[in-house]
Amino acid sequence: MQLLDNRIISFYTTSSDGNMAYYTTDSKDEVTKNREQIALKYGFDIGQLRYMNQVHGNNIQIVDSESPSLIMECDGIITNKKNLPLMVQIADCIGILFYDTKKQVIAAAHAGRNGTFLNISSKILNKMRESFDSNPEDIKVTLSPSIQKCCYEVDIDMANLVKNNFGEEFVDNRHIDLQGINKIQLLQNGVKDKNIYISYTCTKCSQEPYFSYRNNPNCGRFSGVIMLKDYK
Ligand SMILES: [Zn+2]
Repeated sequence: MQLLDNRIISFYTTSSDGNMAYYTTDSKDEVTKNREQIALKYGFDIGQLRYMNQVHGNNIQIVDSESPSLIMECDGIITNKKNLPLMVQIADCIGILFYDTKKQVIAAAHAGRNGTFLNISSKILNKMRESFDSNPEDIKVTLSPSIQKCCYEVDIDMANLVKNNFGEEFVDNRHIDLQGINKIQLLQNGVKDKNIYISYTCTKCSQEPYFSYRNNPNCGRFSGVIMLKDYK
C-alpha cells in the first residue's frame, strides 16, 4: 500500500510480511530476515532504518544518520533527512505516519491508549513546527489498521475517563474510539480533514492479515514505514 506521494516511500506491512519487532517472542534472525525482505520489496536501505522501543509514552526525538538504529524510551521520531526510513511497530495500537509535503519532513508515531491520552499527535506536530517551520496545513497523516471501537472494550472507569476528558461521542458502552480521538487532536492542531487518512480495518476482528495483541499476546508486530526519497 503506497500512501501519500511519490517523493516518499510509505506503507504498512501485513502479517504476511512477518513479525517486524525484536521485543516479541520470535527469534532475532527471523525478524531481521522479515525486515530485510520489506527493504527489498519497497526499496530502502535496511542499514538506515530507525525504529523505537515504544514505551507507551510521548517522548519524541528528531533523528538523523548519526542516531542509533534503535531509539530508546521513545514513541515518536521525526526527520528531514533523505533515505532515512522511520518505522513504527504495531499490533492493535495505532501507527501514525506524518508527511510535510512542503518542508519535506516526516514522522512516525506509536499511539496506543496512553500515547493518545498524552496527545502524542499534537506533540509531533508542535515539534515539526518548532524545529522545521512546518505548517500543519501542509501535513498529510495516515493512521494504520488498529483495534477499532467494535473491539476496544475497557473497564467502566476507563470508559468514564474517556467520556469526561474527550467527549461522549468517543464512547459506546465500554467501547472506546481511539481513531476518533486522534483525528480530533490532529484537526485541533490545524491538520486539514482531507489530509487525514484513517484505516478503519480492525486488527482484532477484521480477518485481514494484521497482528492483534488482544487476539494473541504472543503475536508479532506489523509496521508502518515512511522515508523521504532523494528525488531530483
Ligand atoms: Zn473489531
